Amino acid sequence: MHEMSLAEGVLQLLEEQAETQRYHKVKQVWLNIGELAGVDVDALTFSLEVVCRDSLADGAVFHIVREPGRGWCLQCSREVELPTRYHGCPHCGRYQIQVTGGTDMRVGELEVE
Ligand SMILES: [Zn+2]
Repeated sequence: MHEMSLAEGVLQLLEEQAETQRYHKVKQVWLNIGELAGVDVDALTFSLEVVCRDSLADGAVFHIVREPGRGWCLQCSREVELPTRYHGCPHCGRYQIQVTGGTDMRVGELEVE
């Protein structure tokens, strides 16, 4: 389950930032997750609960913000929204699309103390 390693990555980042930004407790975290990132949000939420137990983020609330997938249609020369990676262009119906966004997961805002 790759959500578990994603969750470990998030916790690691929080611990690193705690040293540089001098906080000792994480209360809320906003995670931006692209629709094309291939992340199972339920599995990730569960994994975060598990890995954050007894850490500086124990009991933290994680807010998931979904970001739409985006691509560039070579045929139309315009940006289009992509619900999945293998979706045709909503305007011309072709599949000559370069994925340009919504493929990653980032830690957004933090509420710490
Ligand atoms: Zn098109």
